[in-house]
Amino acid sequence: MNIIKIKYEQIREEIVQIGKEMLNSSLVVGTWGNISARVPNEDYIAITPSGVDYNSIDARGIVVMDMDGDIVEGDTKPSIEYGLHLAIYNNREDVNAIVHTHSTYCTAMAIARKPIPGACEDLVQIVGGDVRVSTYALPGTVELGANTVKALEDRNAVILANHGCLGAGKSLKETLKIVNVVEKSAQATIFAQLMGGVVELSQGDIDIMRDFYLNKYGQ
Ligand code: 13P
Ligand code: ZN
Repeated sequence: MNIIKIKYEQIREEIVQIGKEMLNSSLVVGTWGNISARVPNEDYIAITPSGVDYNSIDARGIVVMDMDGDIVEGDTKPSIEYGLHLAIYNNREDVNAIVHTHSTYCTAMAIARKPIPGACEDLVQIVGGDVRVSTYALPGTVELGANTVKALEDRNAVILANHGCLGAGKSLKETLKIVNVVEKSAQATIFAQLMGGVVELSQGDIDIMRDFYLNKYGQ
């Protein structure tokens, strides 16, 4: 097996694993949602197949494509959202992995078209501030990609109007953490609103916590 193929195989296996973890964390129901990652040091991404149960996807089912969406490896039909994923990778050099979920509390924010305020300390650290809502577009369309890139800007997560959540991070592991923190923050926001409202953090404190997460947090 040549060296590029070994890289595909590692990233494909990792995507299969993250898919199972995403399903077990109840971030998706059925076959919705999708996952992708850049193939290290190549102008390729690997992405989940369309409409396949996460428990039955194997590494060969993960599609490898170039940055124009032309398939390089794989016999399955890629996620209908491959254009959305590519739009983000082509606009954000810092993003190496994308996890798109249809989790319950994010979906509540998505159908209310309300952003998740920058009020939880873990959220502002990992996402960089509030989680904006992108302008509505049908799934699988070029418009969805363009609207998502615009709303995401330099953040690491976005709510897709009437659809769900999307996290974009440095690695698959970090990105799964992002969508979990966003889902928890959406839940906490809804509960806080039931108790009278959310007190947002100041921009100064958000900046301090973001810097801490990016440069100092962890071992
Ligand atoms: P795929 O199964 O094609 O990835 O579509 C699911 C989805 O979430 C569409 O937005
Ligand atoms: Zn979706």
